[in-house]
Amino acid sequence: MKILITGGAGFIGSHFAVKMLKEQHEVAIIDNLHPYYSVDRKQQHLENIKRTGDFQFCQTNLLDRNETTEIIKKISPEAIVHLAALPGVAYSILRPLEYIDYDVKATVNVLEGAGISGVRQVIFASSSSVYGMMNNIPFKEEMATGKPISPYAASKYAAESFCHVYGHLYNIDVKILRFFTVYGPWGRPDMAIANFIKKLENGEEITIFGKGGSRDYTYVGDIVNGISLALQNLQQSAIINIGSGQPVSMTQLLGELKVYYPDMKIKREEDRAGDVDRTWADISLAKKLLGYEPEMEFSKGIAETVAWAKNNEKFL
Ligand code: NAD
Repeated sequence: MKILITGGAGFIGSHFAVKMLKEQHEVAIIDNLHPYYSVDRKQQHLENIKRTGDFQFCQTNLLDRNETTEIIKKISPEAIVHLAALPGVAYSILRPLEYIDYDVKATVNVLEGAGISGVRQVIFASSSSVYGMMNNIPFKEEMATGKPISPYAASKYAAESFCHVYGHLYNIDVKILRFFTVYGPWGRPDMAIANFIKKLENGEEITIFGKGGSRDYTYVGDIVNGISLALQNLQQSAIINIGSGQPVSMTQLLGELKVYYPDMKIKREEDRAGDVDRTWADISLAKKLLGYEPEMEFSKGIAETVAWAKNNEKFL
């Protein structure tokens, strides 16, 4: 299958591109190498993909409506996996309008370009953050009712709505996957696990906000497996949680890290605006519709992430 991956130079996108190349699919990537975090690191992601196989790369900004349509037409993929976005809750509070551009407008451009070019399916990377503050757990897909608590989450929720619009206008199967806090080798440096491990490697203290809450941490290998299943095993539009289904408290996470960093120093600060207390994915729909089954046990996933950091972080 010819697959266009937007945001393919990013954390999840680069893992997904490698998986698709290993499975003999044809891969094209659009990424503008946004400096939200180190551009060198994104180049390194592209190098990692190249070691697996050849792919087409376009350094294009999806904010350009006409260019986006022209490039999609030219690539003419059978499916688009739209991962490009400005991620991160904290930054979205500082720069909300950029999230309307990067997470909503760019998504509309991709959906429109897909429709005009006759692409039959689009996968959209949404987020557990669309659930907002929930009392009921675990989170089922129908529980997201438009009450997010950060500009990032509101942009993802709005983009989901545009997915419905363009699926309807152009008869595209639009598969909205809500990822739950993704970690693993090459993990995004602004996210808790990657940030903690890097600091601990350098002997620095780590900062915990509020009580620390709990997160449905999901190993990147399970996430890209979920995307692949949605691409190949599902012939309809749907909204599906892709998580581990196992929430991990901050106390548990710190316990896992203590195995490798017994002398860790911790600083505590007030809760951060925009952060939800907890996430917990109900993954029964993913199991039913996709045959998805998360495989990575949390302590093993942490072991792999720490091992990766010991070998790579000093070079980045
Ligand atoms: P990432 O920042 O590593 O990757 C996103 C990539 O998109 C970057 O390489 C960036 O340069 C590119 N990009 C951004 N705007 C672009 C534009 N206008 N044109 C072209 N390229 C652009 O992030 P990630 O963690 O790999 O996340 C991938 C997707 O999954 C995002 O949509 C994110 O919101 C979503 N998501 C991630 C997580 C997580 O825990 N990492 C959780 C839920 C949802």
